[in-house]
Amino acid sequence: MTERNMTCVACPLGCQLTVTLDGDNVISVTGNTCKRGDAYARTEIFCPTRSLTTTVKCEGGIHPVVPVKSSVPVPKDKLLECMKVINSVTVQAPVMVGQVIIHNILGTDAHIVATNNN
Ligand code: SF4
Repeated sequence: MTERNMTCVACPLGCQLTVTLDGDNVISVTGNTCKRGDAYARTEIFCPTRSLTTTVKCEGGIHPVVPVKSSVPVPKDKLLECMKVINSVTVQAPVMVGQVIIHNILGTDAHIVATNNN
């Protein structure tokens, strides 16, 4: 049996979780205040993901960049690759909040979406 400690980032409370593993099997998750913590811990063990928040270059707008985020969390091991793709893109103004800037980035099922107008 092994134990892994982690902080749940599913909400600002930041519960300290302890995951007990037997090989690849999760035996228990403790320290979570709600069910989301249990789900977070299992995802973090087997397929860690992160929401991606950044900016994309924008031409012709009020600002030189437009803020964007991923529509769903992307696998942690693809974050750097996703950033390379995002950094290679320049959009033309006008950009509207909610506009999909990059569809299904790197086949992750996440869309990169504008979070503000520009
Ligand atoms: S376990 Fe629940 S209450 Fe605790 S940080 Fe995670 S989401 Fe928030």
